[in-house]
Amino acid sequence: MKTTLPPCALAPEMYQDEVLYSPPSRRDVTAEEWRAYQAKKAAAHRRCAGCEVFAECLHRAVVEVDVAGFLACTSETDRRRMRRDLGIEVELDQSPYGTARVGGGPVDHDAVVAARRAYPEDTNKQLADRLGCSASTIKRHLRQERERAQEAPVVVEERPEPTVTEVLDAFDRLDCARSA
Ligand code: SF4
Repeated sequence: MKTTLPPCALAPEMYQDEVLYSPPSRRDVTAEEWRAYQAKKAAAHRRCAGCEVFAECLHRAVVEVDVAGFLACTSETDRRRMRRDLGIEVELDQSPYGTARVGGGPVDHDAVVAARRAYPEDTNKQLADRLGCSASTIKRHLRQERERAQEAPVVVEERPEPTVTEVLDAFDRLDCARSA
């Protein structure tokens, strides 16, 4: 029987792009870098939007596992917003599905935070050299960590697992869904 692969499996390099793993904020990059990021995100978004298993993929990434990177039309930040909206919390996935990539792939967020704690006097450039990435990547991860620390705690309700429909409704409330 012929199996149809989802678009992310057919173009994995698109989804493993470092800029989709740790999106920049507009103020940290040039206009050209911002346009390049937006173009990459839009291309991945289009693929996910046309994916046959989009709803199931989004449900799993929001309700079951906290995986890194862009998938099912959402960034990690989008999925955190959806969990807050749904009143759920999900453990960081430690399975191979969610394990950080190493060896030339995108740098793991936790590795950057751990390196900052271990070497508090290092510049971003020195940390980047230690981890084999760019200083702007270090900067992005540390900014994301500050933003997470500032977020109010999730109010977790005693409730059944959100359904696929509830997750899709939460997705529709995201800005990225409205601008897609
Ligand atoms: S929706 Fe999920 S399975 Fe489909 S292309 Fe996007 S990331 Fe891959």
